[in-house]
Amino acid sequence: LKPDKITIHCSDSPDGRDVPASEIERWHIARGFRAIGYHAVIQPSGKIEYGRKLNEIGAHVKGHNTNNLGICLVGRRKFTHKQFEALRMFLDNIFTSEPQIPQWAMFCHHEFDPGKTCPNMEIKRILRWYWTGDTSAIDIYLLAS
Ligand SMILES: [Zn+2]
Repeated sequence: LKPDKITIHCSDSPDGRDVPASEIERWHIARGFRAIGYHAVIQPSGKIEYGRKLNEIGAHVKGHNTNNLGICLVGRRKFTHKQFEALRMFLDNIFTSEPQIPQWAMFCHHEFDPGKTCPNMEIKRILRWYWTGDTSAIDIYLLAS
């Protein structure tokens, strides 16, 4: 399996509070998954935790898991500056190590499932922030510190 896209999620847990990937894994196992469904979890503290291997199928977008990396930002509506900086580092590393992923192939969960709002952000803002470095694009998602 070679990932060809990235999907961003949130954990739907209180903003600004780390939730260990091991706890998210417990939620997913309770829902019947064999392990955490995401490939990576990015905490408000800026810590990055890894879940499934990059060459392993995830369980994070119903009907669209094949070759789709799942990244979970811990929180619900607002995310920290450290979290966005960790996301940037993570994406830089992914686009280097997985050059087959087109650099536009980033999505938000709700784009695949209009019944959901996850991760409560718009991909066009994330793309503008990531590709141009324009931090004002994500200002509305930043947790006041
Ligand atoms: Zn989601």
